[in-house]
Amino acid sequence: MSTDPLKLLLRVQECDLSIDQLLYRRRELPERGELARMEARARELETRRSRLDTDREDRARRQSQIDSQVATFASRIEAIESRLRQGGDYRDVQAMSTEMDSLTRHRRALEDEELEIMEQVEVLDAELESLAGEASELLKDRETVSARIKELESELDAGVEASRNERSALALGLPADLLSSYERIRARLGGIGAARLVEGTCSGYHLKLPSSERERALNATPGEIVYCDQCGRILVT
Ligand SMILES: [Zn+2]
Repeated sequence: MSTDPLKLLLRVQECDLSIDQLLYRRRELPERGELARMEARARELETRRSRLDTDREDRARRQSQIDSQVATFASRIEAIESRLRQGGDYRDVQAMSTEMDSLTRHRRALEDEELEIMEQVEVLDAELESLAGEASELLKDRETVSARIKELESELDAGVEASRNERSALALGLPADLLSSYERIRARLGGIGAARLVEGTCSGYHLKLPSSERERALNATPGEIVYCDQCGRILVT
């Protein structure tokens, strides 16, 4: 292992960048967006299901009202029929048949309404069934994506931990003032605190340095920290 503090610093820089990238990936996992879309869809399905359920309950309630009305009419009709069989006063008979006609008409209308309701309930049931199918598929997909997210998170966490351990070990070999200077610059300049000087160009800034500055960097005494005049980063030759 190189003991040149600046070379060590570059390796610390690599570790820091790799930690930053892993944390960024962890934060921005595309699966998270996918999961959020699935959850929004699940909420839509649930709203729709609850509306259909209410519709269905209303119809079932109306159906049982009809059933009990029809039953009342039927027993009334039966009573009249048995009275009619006994015969009687002409006006009574006339009134009874008028009432029976009216009851029969009403009953028929109710039965028609009931048939219509049963058809509507059938349609609602079919739609509820298809919603339930989609919801259960969606639940499975959500579980798969959630599991995938957990898996990726723990992979990334393991990577972060490994890089952090490596970084701690490397940082032990750095003079405290160099490390704290690096950390301050890194915090200020988007994660990069130390840059290599490559063919006269600061790799932190990507501009060729004036030759006087190049000289200054190349001729620095061991242990001296040279900062890039352009971007302020620690220059490593
Ligand atoms: Zn620079």
